[in-house]
Amino acid sequence: MIIGEQKKLKELIDIIEGHREILVVGCRSCVAICLAGGEKEVGVLSEALRLHSDLRSKGWDISEETLERACEKEFVAQLEQAIIGKDCIISLACGVGAQVVQEMYPDIRVVPGLNTSNMGAPEEHGIYLEKCGGCGDCVLHLTGGICPVARCSKSLMNGPCGGSQGGRCEIGPDVPCAWDQIYNSLERLGRPDLMDVPIPPRDWRPSRSGGPRKVVRKEAVLTDEEKRAKGASR
Ligand code: SF4
Ligand code: SF4
Repeated sequence: MIIGEQKKLKELIDIIEGHREILVVGCRSCVAICLAGGEKEVGVLSEALRLHSDLRSKGWDISEETLERACEKEFVAQLEQAIIGKDCIISLACGVGAQVVQEMYPDIRVVPGLNTSNMGAPEEHGIYLEKCGGCGDCVLHLTGGICPVARCSKSLMNGPCGGSQGGRCEIGPDVPCAWDQIYNSLERLGRPDLMDVPIPPRDWRPSRSGGPRKVVRKEAVLTDEEKRAKGASR
């Protein structure tokens, strides 16, 4: 899942200065799970903005919507009525969702209400940990299912470094050493031998170095005829 945190209220208030008709849009997917941009957070933020508007006589009209998934156009299209007359959308979706909303409504300014942080998972209620750096060339089969790119502080591919002490990373006692975890996992899996198999220098081209990445699943791409038929059935 994608993890994010809400921007500070003061920062958002400064960003939306000059707008009057404001729609707060959330997403029921990842950002709802990490308690940053679901229906509840949309409600709380909208109420805080209304209060601020009343106190400071801003005259803001704040309305709210929460989409099933803000990264999919067919859900974002459901905003069609809600955006009428709006001059600003505050997106509480991740950066992907915010961009899809902006693409679909290019004449309305979309303000990111979240700082999107990483791809991770809940560790326990309220605690989320980065798990994947989206490198485009997964090596989890060699590392006991633990990502060295995202979870080793130096993204070492053949760790550990000399700073690993007692299972902790040298950057802080609260941070587990990923390579200690990798070793323990490989041992549990009966494959400690994989620690001796060097992971060759990485080809980072599938990662971020080649510009925006695109994944095409040919069997799912619609033909022109299928697109026309789908459009007609709407
Ligand atoms: S190796 Fe790459 S794709 Fe696999 S979990 Fe780590 S960052 Fe993600
Ligand atoms: S101590 Fe472990 S997690 Fe930290 S940088 Fe070194 S190998 Fe990576």
